Amino acid sequence: MPRLLSIGECMIELAPTEAGTFGMGFAGDTFNTAWYAQQLAGSGIEVAYFSAIGDDEPSGRMRRFMEDAGIVPELVVRKGGSVGLYMISLKNGERSFSYWRSASAARTLADDLDALPGVTKGDIAFFSGITMAVLPEASRARFLQTLAEARANGVTIVFDPNLRPRLWPDTATMCDCIMQAAAVSDIVLPSFEDEQGYFGDADTTATADRYSKVGATTVVVKDGPGPVLLRQGTTDTVVPPETATAVVDTTAAGDSFNAGFLIGMMEGLSADAAVTQGCKLACKVIAARGALVEI
Ligand code: ADP
Repeated sequence: MPRLLSIGECMIELAPTEAGTFGMGFAGDTFNTAWYAQQLAGSGIEVAYFSAIGDDEPSGRMRRFMEDAGIVPELVVRKGGSVGLYMISLKNGERSFSYWRSASAARTLADDLDALPGVTKGDIAFFSGITMAVLPEASRARFLQTLAEARANGVTIVFDPNLRPRLWPDTATMCDCIMQAAAVSDIVLPSFEDEQGYFGDADTTATADRYSKVGATTVVVKDGPGPVLLRQGTTDTVVPPETATAVVDTTAAGDSFNAGFLIGMMEGLSADAAVTQGCKLACKVIAARGALVEI
């Protein structure tokens, strides 16, 4: 069965409830993509999540959450370790996020990595700029080398740059590592607003050009409510946006788009139909609150 292996950090989420307490959930960019992919995928596709967790109670709960969602957990267990956590605060309707992730076991996911778990020719391995950011500098090269080897064996490597400068020592390091990650990838799924901000791209074509130049054969440039630019080889297609009926919370817009697009590609849709599927899914997700929305 074809496998979509998503790689990165899943965290505990503490979200405020109306009663003034906090509800516990699990989320994280690459995990959100796996979760939406699993919701969409038919029984003919296996969705797996690769990370490292600890051996404590919250780590066990995270594993069970994945299993209950139908995602295959590919989790390395670190003795004495735990998982990262973030808390959402609401002030006058505005959400802000505080993170406790510096001791997260996910940072060690590539420490002793030899090969990506369970992927063979025709499968997809998906990671993001956040996956890169949480890895210590010393294990990033090992991680990229493992991806390059999988790619040489026929696995399609997919990368969402997901630029988060707060996770990096400085912008130059972030941009440098992002381009190194793109250079081992077949498909890159950037969001234009971020790319414009940190790479100074003039337009979506400039973003696609930059990623094509380092070897991506497909680039999909998302642009919030704007049209999506699909670059395949040297051919550009502009896919009209889906009009959102309601925008309640844009958390996980890009993550869910990625899931819709990737499952579409795995199910044999044309790339533009897969983009349209990504847009449709993202529109549903932004119409409700939270990272993981039942669809
Ligand atoms: P990210 O969440 O990574 O910042 P974007 O904001 O570029 O990603 O949005 C990703 C996708 O989500 C877009 O390509 C689009 O399909 C959908 N989307 C986001 N915001 C809107 C919106 N306001 N209206 C319609 N679609 C949206």
